[in-house]
Amino acid sequence: MAKWSLRASVTGELVFEDVRVPKANMLPNIQGLKGPLGCLSKARYGIAWGAVGAALDCYDSALRYSKEREQFGKKLGQFQLTQKKLAEMITEITKAQLLSWRLGTLANQGKATPAQISMAKRNNVAMALEVAREARQMHGGMGITGEYPIMRHMANLESVVTYEGTHDIHLLITGMDVTGFNAFG
Ligand SMILES: Cc1cc2nc3c(=O)[nH]c(=O)nc-3n(C[C@H](O)[C@H](O)[C@H](O)COP(=O)(O)OP(=O)(O)OC[C@H]3O[C@@H](n4cnc5c(N)ncnc54)[C@H](O)[C@@H]3O)c2cc1C
Repeated sequence: MAKWSLRASVTGELVFEDVRVPKANMLPNIQGLKGPLGCLSKARYGIAWGAVGAALDCYDSALRYSKEREQFGKKLGQFQLTQKKLAEMITEITKAQLLSWRLGTLANQGKATPAQISMAKRNNVAMALEVAREARQMHGGMGITGEYPIMRHMANLESVVTYEGTHDIHLLITGMDVTGFNAFG
């Protein structure tokens, strides 16, 4: 299947029909969907950190570029608008790091809830995409080239918005967590 995001990995549809799973292949010590869903929680927690990594790479590239590139006789980093973008990017990245770090400490104590993990996955991926878009602009025309990592991160993050629970579904999970009402169906 042709795709413009996560191009290094193969994505395909798996169809299971009339499948019988031998008892020997059952997950040990698990009943129902708890086992598979537990895997999702772990993966989503990892994604929360991965998104921070993508955002940091975009921020780092934008910071370096703004210290090198000169326009109107000044480095881009000397303009207030550039500093505003960089300051907001690093603030949002730091907030996302703290969210993930707190989640990690709760997970170590066996206390991280799926809803908390949803919040971190959703927030950090959206934050990373926003940082990537700002970083792309800050590189001007060069931002769309393969010389810089921005567009690769941006295209990959579009998948991450959708997989491991979509942005909107994680919002509904948070909504259900705070209200107690299920708004999925
Ligand atoms: C690169 C890539 C790799 C993937 N890898 C895997 C994998 O390894 N394993 C795997 O199992 N899956 C994988 N997926 C599938 C992924 O988990 C699904 O694409 C995702 O769950 C969304 O399902 P869908 O595409 O059927 O969209 P749909 O369910 O059709 O949703 C479309 C849109 O409608 C919204 N929506 C759906 N229901 C509601 C509702 N009740 N209320 C409000 N909005 C709603 C969604 O949020 C979404 O924005 C992968 C996807 C991609 C893009």
